[in-house]
Amino acid sequence: MSSLLDYLAADLDKRQTQGLMRQRRLLDSPQAEHITANGQAFLSFCSNDYLGLANDPALVAALQAAATEAGVGSGASNLITGHHRYHDQLEQALAAFVGKPSALLFSTGYMANIGVISALMGRDDAVFSDKLNHACLNDGAFLSRATHHRFAHNDVAALEKLLQASTARHKLVTADAVFSMDGDIAPLADYLSLCERYDAYLYVDDAHGFGVLGPQGRGTLQHLGLASPRLIMMGTLGKAAGVAGAFVAAEKIVIDYLIQHANSYIYTTPAPPPLSAALLASLHEIETGDARRQQLFDMIALLKRELALTRWHLQVSETAIQPLIVGDNHEALALSHYLQLRGILVPAIRPPTVPLNTARLRISLSAAHGEADVRALISALHAAEREIPVGPQA
Ligand SMILES: *Cc1c(COP(=O)(O)O)cnc(C)c1O
Repeated sequence: MSSLLDYLAADLDKRQTQGLMRQRRLLDSPQAEHITANGQAFLSFCSNDYLGLANDPALVAALQAAATEAGVGSGASNLITGHHRYHDQLEQALAAFVGKPSALLFSTGYMANIGVISALMGRDDAVFSDKLNHACLNDGAFLSRATHHRFAHNDVAALEKLLQASTARHKLVTADAVFSMDGDIAPLADYLSLCERYDAYLYVDDAHGFGVLGPQGRGTLQHLGLASPRLIMMGTLGKAAGVAGAFVAAEKIVIDYLIQHANSYIYTTPAPPPLSAALLASLHEIETGDARRQQLFDMIALLKRELALTRWHLQVSETAIQPLIVGDNHEALALSHYLQLRGILVPAIRPPTVPLNTARLRISLSAAHGEADVRALISALHAAEREIPVGPQA
């Protein structure tokens, strides 16, 4: 056997003994609150489909109609012949919706983050990132070759010190608007003031705010009432929007520059045009979706009000992401497993996705959940607290 394969096997063994092995489930139903996974029916609190749009009939119909009209493949990159009318319409609609002059579509949020940060920043520049930022923001900073400063979670004073001391040519502050494993909202107003003071720009990853927060779901920036040419916003389209992809919205000059310089935009085939047609339908559902958002926020309030645990605690969060902090990796797995045996899926999130000793259940709520669903989760958690043995798990 080659030494590389030995090394890979040893890594996998180590993960297994540390309780860090990740497993995929085979989904055999639409993404929804009630799913079939590994051949079994489950009530799911796993998805980021916060508005219940992933299987919405209006989106499915829009996708089918567009596939009949426009085909399924994009065929070539955007700068050759791949930029379809549906892509263009969606970009314009998204820019208008979030109140920015211009927008650009990417195939995924991951591609957007690595493409934008590495295009805008270079060797003489500096990127400033919250320590709990999503992995793809860090990858973007790494690819850019800029100096990468990471500051403690939500620590405005620490960021200011770093900005003050920096002699970089250009400065970009990056943050999740809503943190993906914590659900809390970044102090973006403070960051923007610092950016104005220190001539920096603010790149906001709104993967979990777009569609959910702000008037008509326009996102976290509108929720906080923030607007500035210094703001560059990224929103994903595979979470609340229910489909796939991502967009970056900014000043027109930024978008024009990205079309010339963002490699993950230039050297790739865009998502199929019918996905953009489905997303135009999704945008309409989001804009007229106050009832969905009300249902989601009612479910969040219900969970926070009625869950009464002493052993584990819900971390403070106003959003659809409600982390139940357990601490130990094995205990978090045992809890997730306990729920699974009772037909409820909640993922255990362990390091390195979250800091050491903060393993948790990431409960994510959706407008598709009903009161009975959330109450079923609450009583199962109450039972788990009584029944799962305390101490190191077998
Ligand atoms: C999910 C996520 C991404 C990546 O988006 P995809 O479209 O799934 O690639 C980026 N940033 C954050 C904060 C996310 O949660």
